[in-house]
Amino acid sequence: MADERVFNFGAGPSVLPVPVLEEARRDLVALPGVGMSVLEISHRSKTFERILGEAEADLRSLASIPPGYRILFLQGGASLQFSMVPMNLLGAGQSADYVLTGVWSKKALKEAKRQGATRVAASTEAEAFARIPAEAELDLGPAAAYLHVTSNNTIYGTQWTTMPDPGEVPLVCDASSDFFSRPFDVSSCGLIYGGAQKNLGPAGLTLVIVREDLIERSAETLPSMLSYKVHAAGGSLYNTPPVFAIYLTGLVAKWLLAEGGLSKIAGINERKAARLYAEIDRTEFYRGHAAIGSRSRMNVTFRLPNETLEAGFLAEAARQGLDGLKGHRSVGGLRASIYNAFPEQGVDVLVQFMKEFERVHG
Ligand SMILES: *Cc1c(COP(=O)(O)O)cnc(C)c1O
Repeated sequence: MADERVFNFGAGPSVLPVPVLEEARRDLVALPGVGMSVLEISHRSKTFERILGEAEADLRSLASIPPGYRILFLQGGASLQFSMVPMNLLGAGQSADYVLTGVWSKKALKEAKRQGATRVAASTEAEAFARIPAEAELDLGPAAAYLHVTSNNTIYGTQWTTMPDPGEVPLVCDASSDFFSRPFDVSSCGLIYGGAQKNLGPAGLTLVIVREDLIERSAETLPSMLSYKVHAAGGSLYNTPPVFAIYLTGLVAKWLLAEGGLSKIAGINERKAARLYAEIDRTEFYRGHAAIGSRSRMNVTFRLPNETLEAGFLAEAARQGLDGLKGHRSVGGLRASIYNAFPEQGVDVLVQFMKEFERVHG
C-alpha cells in the first residue's frame, strides 16, 4: 500500500500515519478476539468501552492533561463548537472576547454573535491576517465570559507561539490544525477544541478538552446534544459516538506515543517547517505569506511571481506525486500542510521540486 501513496499536502482531512492505516485495514473485518468489525460493534460493548478508555488515557498522557479537565468526544466539527462554546459558556448579560486572526476565527465570532454579546479583542484583518497580534495589542474586557483564540490559522499559515494570558478570564482555543503537534499547557486554557481530521484522525470526531468548573455553566435549557454537561455526564456516550473515528484516533495516539510523544513530534515538525521556510527565504522567486515571527509549523503558505506560474507549479507538482498544494481559495497561492503524519522525506522532495521549478521558470 505504501508504494502507491503520493505525498499528501492537503489541509484536512489529511495524511494519516501509514502504520495506523495498515493496522486498521488488517483488523477491519474482525477485531482480534472480537470476531466483528469495529464498524459493527455496539458503542455500549466492553470492546468499545476499552477502545474509548484507551484513546482517552493515551490522549491524556500525550498532552499531560491534568485532573480537573474532561475530554469530550463529540461530532459536528470545530464549526459546531463555534456555536456550542457561546451556548454553554456565555451567560446572559456577559460578553465574550474574540481575537480575529483569520477566516476561522471570524466564523467563530459570527456564530457567537447569534448567542450573545461579543467584543473583538484584536484583529489583523487589515494586514491580510499575515501575523498574530502581540499580547500588548489585545484589548481584553475585564469581565469577559472567555477569550477565544485560534492557535493555528490553517488558511493563512500563522500560529501563536505563546498563548495570551487573560488572567482570570478562561482562554478558549480552537486548536483544530495544531492539536497534539507540540506540547501545550492545558492548564492555561479553560477549553480547547478541534476537529480530528487535521492532525489526529479521520473526519467525524471533534475533541473538546474542558475544565470541570466550565462544564457547570451549561444551562439546563440547552438542547441535550448541545450541552457539555450532558455529554460529560454521559462519558461521551449520551448518544452513539463516531465509533470508527474514535478507534482510529486512538490508534494515532498510540502511534504518537510510540514516536516519543509531543516534544519529539514537535522537534520533527520544527525541522520540516524550517526546511521549507529556508527554501522560501533563499530566493525572491518564492514569497511567504506569513510574517516571519508568526509562521506556522503546520501550514506553510507561499506565492510565486504570478498566478500562471502558480498554476504551472501545481500541475507539475501533482504529476510528480506532490498532491494538495493549492492554497485556500480565500488567499490563493500555494500551501503545504505538513501535519504530524506528513513524512520528512516528502518535505525534502518538495524542496527539491521548488529548486528545480525555479531553475526552469525563474
Ligand atoms: C478546519 C478548521 C475548522 C473547521 O473545522 P470543521 O471540523 O470542518 O468544522 C475550524 N477551525 C480551524 C482552525 C480549522 O483549521
